[in-house]
Amino acid sequence: MPERAQRVLDYLLRDVSFKVIEPEEREEFGRYFLLVHDPLYLGTLKEAAESVKSPKTYFYDYNGEQTHRPRQLDELFKFCYDTMTPVGRSTWDSAYWSALSALNGAVLLRQGKVRSVFALTRPPGHHTGRDFFGGYCYINNAALAGEYLAQNGKVAIFDFDYHHGNGTESIFYHRRRVLYVSIHCTPPRAYPFFTGSAKAKGVGRGKGYNLNIPLEPACGLRVYRKALSRAMRVIRDFSPRYLVVSAGFDIFRSDPDGSFDLPLEFCTELAEEIFAVGVPTIIVLEGGYNLDSLPELVYQFLTTPRTTSKHKL
Ligand SMILES: [Zn+2]
Repeated sequence: MPERAQRVLDYLLRDVSFKVIEPEEREEFGRYFLLVHDPLYLGTLKEAAESVKSPKTYFYDYNGEQTHRPRQLDELFKFCYDTMTPVGRSTWDSAYWSALSALNGAVLLRQGKVRSVFALTRPPGHHTGRDFFGGYCYINNAALAGEYLAQNGKVAIFDFDYHHGNGTESIFYHRRRVLYVSIHCTPPRAYPFFTGSAKAKGVGRGKGYNLNIPLEPACGLRVYRKALSRAMRVIRDFSPRYLVVSAGFDIFRSDPDGSFDLPLEFCTELAEEIFAVGVPTIIVLEGGYNLDSLPELVYQFLTTPRTTSKHKL
């Protein structure tokens, strides 16, 4: 849905204080793509998308042999773990430039030019791992930003999307200098159904640097606030140099893909808690599918005043 990004952008542009920067390619980015993703997966994704000549999109399906689709798509779908993530001729370009938005934002943070930056990424990325994709995600934007920033110091990734960021978790599961914290709907009640357990805490050197806080659908504001406060405490204790936020606005009321049903006014409080961590922060767009409320939610989040941390580090 390209309209999602366009509507958010149009809304933000009503406020002249927003400075919009178009992403650009940089030679150094190639290295980060290969640190985060398997080169064979990336190459197959690009080739498969470019093999689609018609405006048609294709899905992984069990009767693949019966459909007339380009051969390259069958190679690509070996990396796919669901049946709902479409691939068409614009998939590579959209995913690649979405990823570049996150990387360009990370550059600005690392250069110290801004304290916070928003990457208007579409498609989202947090369901894509090193060599698997699904959940409308193809390239992991937040993981790329996190990897880029991690060259300069410890990074915390806070993922508040309704759905567990199984891709991001898996990419950093063995790492101790990148902390992944997620609040999401508990498996198996929501996509991706089989990950996001509180028991998943990291492995090897990464043990203790992965925190999942699964909540029941319609858990209510009180429970969510408690989870948020725990997540922020863990992030502050980690003392990151940078914070990457996987911002999924599908936690709010009337989202067709989420059932937390949190009131829209809570968005400001959520942003206050996150910005109170007080470190340079990049916000990367993940989910949020109610097109009537998404632009306003993003605007509310981004314009929440940055107060000095109420929690001293
Ligand atoms: Zn989501």
